[in-house]
Amino acid sequence: RVVVVGSANLDLVVTTPQLPRPGETVLGDDFRTVPGGKGANQAVAAARAGADCDFVGAVGTDDFGGLLRDNLVAAGIDVRGLRTVGGPSGVALIAVDGAAENFIVVAPGANAALTNLDDADRAAVAAADVLLLQLEVPLPTVTRAAAWARADGTTVVLNAAPARPLPAELLDLVDVLVVNEHEAAVVGGVFTDEPAALLDALVALVPRVVLTLGARGAAYADRHGLRIEVPAPMVDAVDTTAAGDAFTGALAVGWAERGGADSAETVTAVLRWACAAGAACAQRRGASSALPDRAAIDELAAAAYG
Ligand code: ADP
Repeated sequence: RVVVVGSANLDLVVTTPQLPRPGETVLGDDFRTVPGGKGANQAVAAARAGADCDFVGAVGTDDFGGLLRDNLVAAGIDVRGLRTVGGPSGVALIAVDGAAENFIVVAPGANAALTNLDDADRAAVAAADVLLLQLEVPLPTVTRAAAWARADGTTVVLNAAPARPLPAELLDLVDVLVVNEHEAAVVGGVFTDEPAALLDALVALVPRVVLTLGARGAAYADRHGLRIEVPAPMVDAVDTTAAGDAFTGALAVGWAERGGADSAETVTAVLRWACAAGAACAQRRGASSALPDRAAIDELAAAAYG
């Protein structure tokens, strides 16, 4: 069982031949609304990957709140921990041009009001194998949930996105840190593009680190000195949006299913499966709609790694 304490946003996505400059109005073409937010995406990713999943978060009293809730329910996620708070839901205003260049403004809305975790949330954390966290809800909330997990024997997986330096108070509660190269540099306070150096810096801060490397796959380091690199399956990548969320959701599920065992074999298997999830997502257009189900992950993992 995986519990996510995190964000839900509605992505308002418009495609345009050309992004506007400040003060300019341009005529776009397609407009879509897509459920997003790293928390909700990773919860959906975990549920599609086959886990029982709870989502603790907040949506607003606007129509978007209902859409976001319905999307989580449709994925089979337990939403007893989803609050509806007065005011707008979190939204991301996204414009994308023909060269896939974009600009994005995120208004946190209800996500910023997730400050009132209660006994029911604590029970959900205690009942889970893995607590999966990101950084799109207030940091005190993230830290509180992690402290409960630590006290109750639930493994804490933190995806440190969006990137920011983290206080020791939170880092000390993390069991597995998941970062891309940019996030690794920011959290580790080092500016290098050498994966080994990034892992060295981070493993001084947390017991286990998973570094995602895009089309190159993922790397792992832990405090016992174990180092593992896993190549990504070779796929025709058409849209890598949400690939990181697919990876992280699947990683949490893999970790939960293996009971936190961290031999080289189990870690390699979990990393391969997570890479297959990320690659399967990259093969399909769309963000949350492209998150793969368990069969798709298994199939790609078998094809890529045997
Ligand atoms: P983020 O989107 O958070 O920066 P990455 O780009 O590192 O994360 O992607 C996350 C994971 O998704 C990678 O570790 C890899 O397994 C998979 N992935 C991403 N892009 C590709 C690609 N072009 N081909 C195959 N796998 C990919």
